[in-house]
Amino acid sequence: MPELIFDLSRKGRCAHAQLPPNTLQNATDIPAELLRVQPAALPEVSELQAVRHFTRLSQLNFSIDTHFYPLGSCTMKYNPRGVHKAAQLPGFLQRHPLAPESHSQGYMACAYELQEILKSVTGMRAVSLTPMAGAQGEFTGVAMIRAYHHARHDRARTEMLVPDAAHGTNPATAAQCGYTVREIPTDADGNVNIDALRAAVGPQTAGIMLTNPSTLGVFEQKIKEIAAILHDVGGLLYYDGANLNAILGKVRPGDMGFDVMHINLHKTFATPHGGGGPGSGPVAAGERLAAFLPTPMVGKSATGYEWLTAKACPQTIGRLSTFMGNAGILLRAHFYARLLGAAGMQRVAEFATLNANYMLKRLTAAGFNAAFPKRRASHEFIITLKKEAKEYHISALDVAKRLLDAGMHAPTMYFPLLVPECLLIEPTETETREVLDAFVATMILILKEMQTQPDKIKQAPQYLPVSRLDEVAAAREPEVVAGQEVIEHA
Ligand SMILES: *Cc1c(COP(=O)(O)O)cnc(C)c1O
Repeated sequence: MPELIFDLSRKGRCAHAQLPPNTLQNATDIPAELLRVQPAALPEVSELQAVRHFTRLSQLNFSIDTHFYPLGSCTMKYNPRGVHKAAQLPGFLQRHPLAPESHSQGYMACAYELQEILKSVTGMRAVSLTPMAGAQGEFTGVAMIRAYHHARHDRARTEMLVPDAAHGTNPATAAQCGYTVREIPTDADGNVNIDALRAAVGPQTAGIMLTNPSTLGVFEQKIKEIAAILHDVGGLLYYDGANLNAILGKVRPGDMGFDVMHINLHKTFATPHGGGGPGSGPVAAGERLAAFLPTPMVGKSATGYEWLTAKACPQTIGRLSTFMGNAGILLRAHFYARLLGAAGMQRVAEFATLNANYMLKRLTAAGFNAAFPKRRASHEFIITLKKEAKEYHISALDVAKRLLDAGMHAPTMYFPLLVPECLLIEPTETETREVLDAFVATMILILKEMQTQPDKIKQAPQYLPVSRLDEVAAAREPEVVAGQEVIEHA
């Protein structure tokens, strides 16, 4: 097990050169009853020990900076460092979120332009940047659908339709907004089953939540027909924009007939989102729903940029976050979009799709089974290891673990739920052909190992700091003994 920094601790050892002069003694305005009676039980180490400890910990992990990361549906691609740097210019970092409009014109100009850019790439009428995650964007959109029906005094709509391939946040959102979730099955080619959809819709239908391309990695071929079926019964269409990178600059959800959608800026627009980092899920709405968008938004008048609040937007569903969303991520998205331009956005979709289809073809040629063999991939695709599980007793989990030994992050596994022994692979647009070839070569090697030395796969990973973890125990009974001892001792 990795060494704990507490094990390195020696009484009185510290980084003298970095020690702030008499910080505690200077803080005279803290009430005496709130002051510590004993120093905190922190590890006492030298500066180099601290630096080495944290550098070593960072190297124990997989990251986009060090490894290929084909995590389907989660889009862990490389994002330009320049974009992060621009978002951290002192003028942006030091702006107080409550600063008056007159002091915030630079930031508000960026936010306004981002709203305009997102309107043009989605084909929607208006955008609110405030939601702080994809899931919160979904909640916003479905709450807007509910507000729309209620504004028309239509309270009979109690059901939200969700295809069985959907991300778990879709049914969860619908339930949170008070809807009954009705599941719609997928047909053999990965499309929504149209007959089942026709049978399910009616005056009780509030809407449908769709991802397109779906999380099965294929584009919904009958999307126009689906939109007509919903609109004919008075229902609305929600677009889960997590896979927007597949169609960026090519097709727009607004043109497909969707009424509202979110965009995962932390998947498509420059913020990697591993480890539960900060997110941003702006919501874009078409004609029917624009009036219900959450506030504040940024407006532009003759005198400059201004916050649009409930006064300017009387039908808004209200506020969803403090201030106006995740400013740092919105800035990154703005710079990234400006950097790419319209032509660059098209290249995102083209290379994301080309890379996925290249890998799909090479893997199927090598003997792996595509979940939807008749379909071209979008930006991601699914390999099913159902046959391998039966013949060699090797599961998708085993293959994922063996890939770690080869220095590759595992693809998304066991999602979507309807494909057995599923690996959802997304190369992204930012990888070179050599990296894609290396992944394919590793997969071919693993396929050979299934026949010759399956134990090697079963015991993987062998070359990482820890081998297979008991994930349930890790969550329920985490081993934090050393840390606890220190705290109790204090
Ligand atoms: C990531 C994702 C979401 C949820 O987005 P978060 O930002 O993680 O809340 C929803 N749907 C799909 C298809 C996703 O991949």
